[in-house]
Amino acid sequence: MMPSWKIIPKVQEELKNNLNIHFQIIYKDILDQNEILKLINRVLDLFQNKDLGISEPNWSQKDVFLITYGDSIYEEKNNKLITLSKFLDKYCKKQFNNLHILPFFPYSSDDGFSITDYEEVRSDLGDWKDIKSLSKNYRIMSDIVINHASIESKYFKSFIENKTETQNFFIKLKNKQGYDQVVRPRSSDLFREFEINKEIYYLWCTFSHDQVDFNFKNPEVLFFFIKLIHLYLKNGVRVFRLDAIAFLWKEHDTNCLNLPQTHEVVKLMRTLLNAFSKNTLLITETNLPNLENLSYFGENDEANAVYNFALPPLLLWTLVMGDSTALRKWSMGMPPAKDHTSYFNFIASHDGIGLRPTEGILTEKERNNLVDIMTDFGAKTTKRKKTDNTETVYEINISLIDAMKGTFQGSDHLQIERFICCHAIMLGLEGIPAFYIHSILGSTNDYEKLEQTKSNRSINRRSWKYDEIDGLLANTDTFNSKIYNQLSKLIEIRKNQSAFHPNATQFTFNLGKNFFGFWRQSHDKRQSIFCVSNVTNVFQYLDLSELNLIADPKTYKFNTKTLHSGHQPDKNFGSRAVPIYQTTSYLFQDADHAAALFNLEEGGHIYSRISNPTISVLEERVAALEGGSAALATASGMSAMMLALLNICSAGDHIVSSSQLYGGSFNLLRLTLKRFGIETTFVKPRDTEGFKKAIQPNTKCIWGELIGNPGIEIMDLPEISKIAKDAGIPLMVDGTFNTPYLCNLFELGADIITHSLTKWMAGHGTSMGGIIVEKGDFDWTKGDKFPTMTEPYDGYHGLSFAEEFGPAAFTMRARAEGMRDFGPCMSPTNAFNILIGIETLSVRMEKHLSNTKIMVDYLSNNPSVSWVNHPSLPDHPDHKVAAKLMPRGAGSMIAFGIKGGKEAGHAFINSLKLTSHLANVGDAKSLVIHPASATHSQMDKKSLELAGLTEDMIRFSVGLEDMDDIINDFENGFRASQKPRLVASK
Ligand code: PLP
Repeated sequence: MMPSWKIIPKVQEELKNNLNIHFQIIYKDILDQNEILKLINRVLDLFQNKDLGISEPNWSQKDVFLITYGDSIYEEKNNKLITLSKFLDKYCKKQFNNLHILPFFPYSSDDGFSITDYEEVRSDLGDWKDIKSLSKNYRIMSDIVINHASIESKYFKSFIENKTETQNFFIKLKNKQGYDQVVRPRSSDLFREFEINKEIYYLWCTFSHDQVDFNFKNPEVLFFFIKLIHLYLKNGVRVFRLDAIAFLWKEHDTNCLNLPQTHEVVKLMRTLLNAFSKNTLLITETNLPNLENLSYFGENDEANAVYNFALPPLLLWTLVMGDSTALRKWSMGMPPAKDHTSYFNFIASHDGIGLRPTEGILTEKERNNLVDIMTDFGAKTTKRKKTDNTETVYEINISLIDAMKGTFQGSDHLQIERFICCHAIMLGLEGIPAFYIHSILGSTNDYEKLEQTKSNRSINRRSWKYDEIDGLLANTDTFNSKIYNQLSKLIEIRKNQSAFHPNATQFTFNLGKNFFGFWRQSHDKRQSIFCVSNVTNVFQYLDLSELNLIADPKTYKFNTKTLHSGHQPDKNFGSRAVPIYQTTSYLFQDADHAAALFNLEEGGHIYSRISNPTISVLEERVAALEGGSAALATASGMSAMMLALLNICSAGDHIVSSSQLYGGSFNLLRLTLKRFGIETTFVKPRDTEGFKKAIQPNTKCIWGELIGNPGIEIMDLPEISKIAKDAGIPLMVDGTFNTPYLCNLFELGADIITHSLTKWMAGHGTSMGGIIVEKGDFDWTKGDKFPTMTEPYDGYHGLSFAEEFGPAAFTMRARAEGMRDFGPCMSPTNAFNILIGIETLSVRMEKHLSNTKIMVDYLSNNPSVSWVNHPSLPDHPDHKVAAKLMPRGAGSMIAFGIKGGKEAGHAFINSLKLTSHLANVGDAKSLVIHPASATHSQMDKKSLELAGLTEDMIRFSVGLEDMDDIINDFENGFRASQKPRLVASK
């Protein structure tokens, strides 16, 4: 036992000082120092039999609140608090150690919040003995409905009778001028006209005309509430919830919200509770924009806990939209609660889901969107008047389980999963969790009660007959018991982990919009927990390496990504290099696991044609370098192009393509796809408007290469992407010549990128490979244009790729159909080789660029060369656009014309010794070819012209050698090339 205050004068002195400060601030210009001292003595006298000591409350991860009405469960034969106690003993004792019994006093309206007698327990519920008895098993939380009382209350009656003890207890005005700025959460008139002694007065009614606001300028009102705290403490209450506290103090010509005196009243209550009772908590309830709400922590001298009002609407938004962005940003910006303070986390409550805390986090349009979706799930809404007199939705009234019925796409089968997911998030987050009884019981919208009361909030204030809910919970097959059991399990998990202490460290991850993730660490740093939820309604892949606390891999810079993205050192043997998984297939855990993998319900490897762990690293690495959402590696650049196009094109469809492409790509479009009924219109790469003109109703995409092969013409991608966007079709770009080092094609407007990895990406000319990378934000569902992406696919039980895989839909379709049926898979060894190449991409590209500059200068001044084509030359027609799109340089492909045409070209190439004559580009070694007789030899004259190809053209892929040696080699070649002409001219 702590000693009485009388025998620890130092504490008493400190307390007196503190009370003095509080009262001086609250009653500045109202009470003089003498009156304040008298008030202090009255307070001390009131509490004199209580323990006195300065104590702070404590809590742990084991603290979980249950919020209930006294009559949420009832039976005819018992007082309702006895029935509640019986129910709690059977179903809630293990999970909950704190119990919030919503106002249990006599009342006239607002489900208990319009109190007629603050000092008595409502007779149908029981009496103070029942509250005291419940307090043996639970820390009891009671409301202090501090802002207003019922107009039918004994206090108001006594007030209009002008009795001394209630004189000036309520706000009654003769004149209502000067209160236009008052902010409040209701649309009703602020003032109620009322006749007192034959005179008309205006009564201040923040909430309804049945609830009159107390006049806190009268110190007797505050003393009345101090007396109530004393009474409630005596009867076992330990947690005090200050209801609607923000509106307490009123001042002329202000918004009457969160005024300094209001904060000081909270401070005073905290001082009293800390002094007079152990293990008490003060909680403020302010459904306001986030920062105003947090202001009730004060300087750690106001509320111990504040309602985390932004959590319910943001969790709802996250799960309904399948997008965690807003929740993540909010969570990252939330300051950790200081010692002796905590967030009070909840998702559902007896009130609706308030929208005001999302102001500044969600836009008005997003809030309206959420309201519309919830209305479809049966919600009602409560509106408030803004200062401009327009109305806005203040809260959504719906039971949480109904709110979790589906997403913005409509209802679906994931209602329970979504419901459990949002509770799992709440239970993991910093703060003390609280469950509304109807969440635990899985209570759905109560339309009957709504009809009876005509109050929207009744939709989520069901009263269960004891036997009925007992029967439902006892049968494990019922909806209610499934929810009850799953939530109970989650609570159990939380209670046993020290990393879930309300004040344990928290760090929010950026895992993209599909996931919400955070990390908790216990005070003693001995336990760390990673909490990650897939917030979408479809299966998602998560690379566990993304759960990196030191840095977010998505923020790694380019070179770091070339070396690390997609791979964590092997857990078994610590192999730092990516292991080569040279296997065709993978063991299933059991038959169910096999079925889940085949039905795409679970991620994992089945067969190396579809996916392979080594190849997955390559896919993730290139996706990271490009900033894409997903990627699919293929056997070659050509197969990447084929799978990408066939993913959305079928017989009868049409493609608009740049005419300047690698010869194989050109042939695929011009001849091969045509054979399968897919036509292509070719447009010269510089003819930006021509792309627009060529689009037909059946056009499915625009295809091109930023740096055309071999004419080195540049496409103005940002402009062409606008054309594609207007037409609702994706822009697909072959990025082989630019690589992600020279530019980011997604930023330039591409929706899908392909690469021949055989070239600069690998850079060593040893391994074939290709890849498709998806940006992830193209809306395939718009306009019925892409049935392969949107319509149910028989190959996977009627699955729609766009619906199921969202930002990875294109890749998943290409993998699940294209790769499955055409089969151009990469070999794991090639994936390994290409990964080795990518590790040095930027170093190589820089050298390619500096060597290219040397060779452009050399060729430009060579008498045997009639023309040189490279975008770095000021007279190149695309010089400016290339400099804008690729500021580092426009690649290492040079085309030049050799004097003497085709014959001279052959002689030049035949006499080179060091420079390799072959059909590749982008090798570390310098390469040359005469396209008209090799890569592009299958093209007729017209096509050659269209591709910008001439017979004297030599295509030169600048390598990484010392260019002096290449120049010597070229000197020999040029000498030889000019010999036949000299002979001929003799
Ligand atoms: N795209 C471009 C621009 C190319 O140059 C090439 C080949 O030279 C390809 C695609 C085809 O790639 P792969 O040879 O890897 O099939």
